[in-house]
Amino acid sequence: MNEDEIEGRLREFEVICRRRGLPLTVQRRDILKAVLERDDHPSADQIHDAVKERIPGLSRTTVYRVLDTLVEMGVIRRLHHPGAIARFDGKIHRHHHLICRSCQHVIDIETKSFDTLKLAPSQRHGFEIEDFTVHFVGLCAECRRKMS
Ligand SMILES: [Zn+2]
Ligand SMILES: [Zn+2]
Repeated sequence: MNEDEIEGRLREFEVICRRRGLPLTVQRRDILKAVLERDDHPSADQIHDAVKERIPGLSRTTVYRVLDTLVEMGVIRRLHHPGAIARFDGKIHRHHHLICRSCQHVIDIETKSFDTLKLAPSQRHGFEIEDFTVHFVGLCAECRRKMS
């Protein structure tokens, strides 16, 4: 995400906080910024490493809690795919992922034809679908190189 986009998203966040009567703490702002600054879908521990310099004494537990709050507020997303630790995504518009089963690398893909996928009522098993992401699992270029 470029600087302007990040600035815009942080301003949006201020508005959401104000609307909800939530204090805009430095912790929340810096942790959100750290997620927005990277496109590698970081784990909570990676975010902790990135911000602990800026916020001395910041505990891992606090980072986990703030990330949960940010997900709940809808300003970041948690990746849902099996077999991996929780990863976070600053991109909240619909997009899809390539996931490496070996190194857990996650690459964003924007494929418009997936955005409108629909399940017939008979396939939904009573589910009310709220959201979806298509993910392809396999081996990334780097891992394939190492294995050959
Ligand atoms: Zn890989
Ligand atoms: Zn993503």
